[in-house]
Amino acid sequence: MIEKKYDLYDIVQMKKDHPCKKSKHFKIVRVGVDIKIKCLGCDNVIMLERPDFERKLKKIIQKHEEIQ
Ligand SMILES: [Zn+2]
Repeated sequence: MIEKKYDLYDIVQMKKDHPCKKSKHFKIVRVGVDIKIKCLGCDNVIMLERPDFERKLKKIIQKHEEIQ
């Protein structure tokens, strides 16, 4: 199994795009028992349970640290 490391405010791509089709990318806005990701196309926030998020995560696009 490939380990995927993600943190708060990272930009990620999920296996399925958001239905709005405006962006393929999401920003992680909350990491806890649940993970909240915000679609960068329409600002909709989606809440996923952590195992569900990890299963649907395709790749990390940009780490938060690299933006600064
Ligand atoms: Zn969207």
